[in-house]
Amino acid sequence: MRPIALDPSYRSAALERMRSTTHDILVIGGGVTGAGIALDAATRGLSTALVEQRDLSSGTSSRSSKLLHGGLRYLEQYDFGLVREALRERDLHLTTLAPHLARPVSFLFPLTGAAWERAYIGAGIALYDTLGGARNMPAHRHLTRTGALRLVPALRADALRGAIRYYDAQIDDARHTMEIARTAASYGAAIATSAKVTGFLREGERVVGAHVTDLETGETLTVRASQVINATGVWTDELQELVGRGRISVRASKGIHLVVPRDRIIADSGLILRTASSVLFVIPWGRHWIIGTTDTGWDLDLAHPAASRSDIDYLLDEVNTVLRHPLTHEDVEGVYAGLRPLLSGESDATSTLSREHAVATTAPGLVTIAGGKYTTYRVMAEDAVDLAARSLPGRVPDSVTDRTPLLGAIGYFALNNRRHELAATSGLHVVRIEHLLGRYGSLTEELLAMVADDPTLGEPIPGAEDHLKVEAVYAASHEGALHLDDVLTRRTRISIETFDRGVGAAPEVARLMAPVLGWDDERVVREVAHYEARVAAERESQRQGDDLTADAARLGAPDVRAAAGT
Ligand SMILES: Cc1cc2nc3c(=O)[nH]c(=O)nc-3n(C[C@H](O)[C@H](O)[C@H](O)COP(=O)(O)OP(=O)(O)OC[C@H]3O[C@@H](n4cnc5c(N)ncnc54)[C@H](O)[C@@H]3O)c2cc1C
Repeated sequence: MRPIALDPSYRSAALERMRSTTHDILVIGGGVTGAGIALDAATRGLSTALVEQRDLSSGTSSRSSKLLHGGLRYLEQYDFGLVREALRERDLHLTTLAPHLARPVSFLFPLTGAAWERAYIGAGIALYDTLGGARNMPAHRHLTRTGALRLVPALRADALRGAIRYYDAQIDDARHTMEIARTAASYGAAIATSAKVTGFLREGERVVGAHVTDLETGETLTVRASQVINATGVWTDELQELVGRGRISVRASKGIHLVVPRDRIIADSGLILRTASSVLFVIPWGRHWIIGTTDTGWDLDLAHPAASRSDIDYLLDEVNTVLRHPLTHEDVEGVYAGLRPLLSGESDATSTLSREHAVATTAPGLVTIAGGKYTTYRVMAEDAVDLAARSLPGRVPDSVTDRTPLLGAIGYFALNNRRHELAATSGLHVVRIEHLLGRYGSLTEELLAMVADDPTLGEPIPGAEDHLKVEAVYAASHEGALHLDDVLTRRTRISIETFDRGVGAAPEVARLMAPVLGWDDERVVREVAHYEARVAAERESQRQGDDLTADAARLGAPDVRAAAGT
């Protein structure tokens, strides 16, 4: 298996393959669930196609808290099976599937109540460690108030009486989802982004494919498949309605996160804080902290959920209850909002495989999968392909994705041990090599080959100096980025990791992408103008007091793909 480059010629060939062949499986949706299904199906030897209306991970799968976790709250509901399953997935990613992308992260749980609280929470966290096997993580530890304040000096002394420190894992969700899709492509799947399903192809009652519009050109095509899988997250009902009402129904719940610079909270550990209704995380994220999240119903625009000023105020107020130096709006570098695809009431009657996700044949030839969480995407994918396989001729092999490392994981540990040698031969500082290894794993060698050909690509991007210019080029030449927004928002996180939200870096990033994507000067200007309009609309929405006005303000900037297709 050779790593496929998701470049424009790959995309054209994939669309051509979709036009001309009948696939075993057509997946709709390029979030983590759809990408996981494509990888599961392709590695079972099934001919597989995946269409995504915008960019890989552009829905919920780039907007999560980025934790691979079992969820302490499920323990309170005695859902040990679910926690064990998620922790197994966490471990698989750390050791085998994506060790370059997944890393342990420490959390401090401040204790505020009487002695029984330490016993209660401590027993829960001990059970969590035991269920997870705690083999790849340090075990939890009880701390006194003094010990906790030494670890997190940012905490107010009166905010806790002691604490417990435990470990979970984190992952860059957008990079991970993209890499699953790229791995699937390398195993033979045809993957196309900017490819929107507008209707289903039917033979009588049976779904036998889908009508797809290429949003880059406006062209339409028909894709035939024995089984179609709807993995569209919060869009599930919209797709299902194209064939009539189905048994699975999804509602959206909005969660927002803030990003602040690392020096605003002096701490050597993340935090997990109880709120009135749930928990709040303060998560270390490179040179930043991610603070989140909220949980409120959302029935407005699904593609561009907006964070309002009230959402931001809520998070600041909550975190400030424990901080010695309160955060203000001026400390916020980035804000992002995502929509949880929650199973709604009607789904209770479906073939629910766990409390978290449901998979069912919702029309002949159409399998629908929904709900779940990021951490368990691989299990969801396996369930969906198992169900679809029942209607395929012949015996379909069992899933092998628990033994299939993602592209950058193959040879990662050995290459990581050679990082000083890579620094010496490439002329890049070892810190830069470590940055590349943590984002591209063993594929770092592909980027270093590009730098060897053109040493200017080893320079930092002006306005986003944490990243090298080669990353912008590689995103377009190997990682399926078709627009400036894809690179600034998902292949990198420049849009949430800089105070100007990536506006300063935008012209240079567009210039770097241009030769790969065949852009002329006018197109570069258009991409930059679109990005600036998006940032302005987001800033405006974040000044609004409620969801309705925030949504209206965000919609002031149209989606770049909608504009490209018309
Ligand atoms: C705030 C927040 C925090 C979270 N934190 C965590 C966490 O820390 N850990 C965890 O495990 N989980 C977390 N989750 C849950 C997790 O992010 C989601 O469960 C997961 O990302 C859902 O992935 P998905 O592929 O099902 O949906 P999506 O990522 O939304 O993918 C669906 C895709 O379908 C595409 N699509 C829709 N319609 C069409 C069409 N007509 N044609 C083609 N494509 C179409 C969309 O563009 C989209 O890309 C969080 C969720 C939120 C909102």
